[in-house]
Amino acid sequence: FHLPPLQSFLVQVSRRASHLARQQYDVIVVGGGHAGTEAAAAAARVGAETLLVTQKIHTIGALSCNPSLGGVGKGQLVKEVDALDGLCGRAGDWAGIHFSILNRRKGPAVWGPRAQLDRQLYREFIQSELLSTPRLTVLEGSVEELLVTEPDPEEPGHHRVTGICLANGSQPISASSVVLTTGTFLSGSLFMGQTSSPGGRIGDAPSSAGLSQTLRERLGLRIGRLRTGTPPRIVKDSVDLSLAELFPSDSTPTPFSFLNTHTRCKPEDQLPCHLTHTTPGVERVVMESLHLNCHIQEDAKGPRYCPSIESRVLRFPGRQHQVWLEPEGLTSDLLYPQGLSMTMPPDVQLRLIREIPAMHRAEIHTPGYGVQYDFVCPTQLSPALQVKNTQGLFLAGQINGTTGYEEAAAQGLWAGVNAARWALSLPAVMLSRTESYIGVLIDDLVSRGVTEPYRMFTSRAEFRTSLRPDNADLRLTLKGFEEVGCVSSLRHQEAVRVRDSLQDALEALQTLTVSTPTWRKKLPNIHISEAKNTIVTGMNMLQYNDVSFEIWPHCDLQKKEIERIQKEEKMSLPQDIDYFSLPVSLSQEVREILDRVRPSTLGAATRLQGITPAAIVHLLNYVLHGN
Ligand code: FAD
Repeated sequence: FHLPPLQSFLVQVSRRASHLARQQYDVIVVGGGHAGTEAAAAAARVGAETLLVTQKIHTIGALSCNPSLGGVGKGQLVKEVDALDGLCGRAGDWAGIHFSILNRRKGPAVWGPRAQLDRQLYREFIQSELLSTPRLTVLEGSVEELLVTEPDPEEPGHHRVTGICLANGSQPISASSVVLTTGTFLSGSLFMGQTSSPGGRIGDAPSSAGLSQTLRERLGLRIGRLRTGTPPRIVKDSVDLSLAELFPSDSTPTPFSFLNTHTRCKPEDQLPCHLTHTTPGVERVVMESLHLNCHIQEDAKGPRYCPSIESRVLRFPGRQHQVWLEPEGLTSDLLYPQGLSMTMPPDVQLRLIREIPAMHRAEIHTPGYGVQYDFVCPTQLSPALQVKNTQGLFLAGQINGTTGYEEAAAQGLWAGVNAARWALSLPAVMLSRTESYIGVLIDDLVSRGVTEPYRMFTSRAEFRTSLRPDNADLRLTLKGFEEVGCVSSLRHQEAVRVRDSLQDALEALQTLTVSTPTWRKKLPNIHISEAKNTIVTGMNMLQYNDVSFEIWPHCDLQKKEIERIQKEEKMSLPQDIDYFSLPVSLSQEVREILDRVRPSTLGAATRLQGITPAAIVHLLNYVLHGN
């Protein structure tokens, strides 16, 4: 693990920024959060001259809310971003201070690699990586306006992005493509108690109104409003951790990155988490203070899967709720109480946390708050994450209605790849649901849209037994190198080595044949249900012992299903199709859905809500035979 000192990063970044020679880039990425940093690094890896513009350089890679990475579904995304040579997996290994694999009692397909992070170390790693990325310049500034052309008369409704304007009034900067990753900042408002103020995150101004206006008025995009919130940060010394249950990290920490064999923080130095629960007193305080809590009364939809304590109490009255007390860093004096996101006034927040025995004398360092922000309805994007009616404009992260660092990072990487390919006149690349969680995420967003903040779960992936965290490199690294161009040769070589070793092992298992008594002698703990003295291959041995491997019959079935879907995915539906005059038998409702979403392939159409199997057959006939 090597890292240039942070100080040198800041000096070099400001030097680069002040000597900005060019006013023209291939790709400009707006925002240095989890989507923006992956987008900028990926675009540069693909070969584009890239500029990352963000409001504050020292907040690049900031963890706005929880100090953790991964988990069930989210861990799969981190592994896939890593397999495509992204940053967050290696950053997690650098900054992790408590590693655990969630769901270990279930099958490996649904294991969730997760780590608590040291906030400062995470930022430090991301910033250093960006600095050492060739073809990438970082500039501190606020983007005020997008530059877009008027629609081409030949292609009505189609704009083209040409660059950005900064709020400081400097010369516009041109680019062939722009990736917007404004997170919770687009027309952001912060809420605490009965007060609200403009902001994207505590201490940070919102994104300019000009940007929202361009998206809404110039480009005519449908924009919605979502909300989320964060808990108060608690002074560690004021908490009686002996009253909570201790959860140490795994004794052998599992790194996120396929390039790492160990984590930076040694097992003996890792910090524990603690679990405690809410009490009836917590519920009482929530109910008594609802009238003082304007965030909870707003219409904007909040995150169902990471709800505030107010929403939990209102939805499940009379229940105890878990509260995890998580370390914020190796040297941090603070604890993060996961499960206690809240937006009531600060004095009420203090009263509430003191209703929990382990926190009966706790002090709050920073109160919890809520944020509401604009998002762009993601059905207006192509599977390359490009805005359908604006050439060269890509969106990624929270702006697309998702929540979470991992979802943002995954989209950022893919938008960065495609923005670079667009700028370099290379064809767009897609990831299918059959090969990755990133493909599932993007397909869900662009085909189905969102009505509430979207987060990843293993249950969203139909092919999750094949899309395991442990095989993300085999699924994606080779493609990332050979077809996409975002993977270094070093990582590619490593993936080829792993693939070849696995292939050798499989062949050995298929050819190795031994009689059952010999197997029993060599491996006394194994289970063999065959009759005496049968000759059994190594492969049969794995089957008898229920070892999860892609060769099992259900995997064979899944493979066939994957092949079928891959065929459908390849059947593209023209984007300029007029569904209302299509001479096939489709109901008005189906035509409206197809017209609104404009699925790019038959596979994507199949997954739209309200599209009947009969409609798919008619579409298939149309694609194959034109009738
Ligand atoms: P962000 O990380 O928000 O980054 C956006 C970046 O864009 C920032 O660096 C900002 O400075 C920059 N920027 C914005 N506008 C401009 C502009 N015009 N010019 C230049 N730069 C600009 N996630 C969960 O999973 N669970 C939670 O419970 C949760 N709670 C949250 C609570 C709060 C209060 C906040 C703020 C966030 C919360 N999140 C939560 C969300 C999590 O932080 C995001 O999902 C994740 O950070 C999104 O990444 P992003 O890259 O899309 O945006």
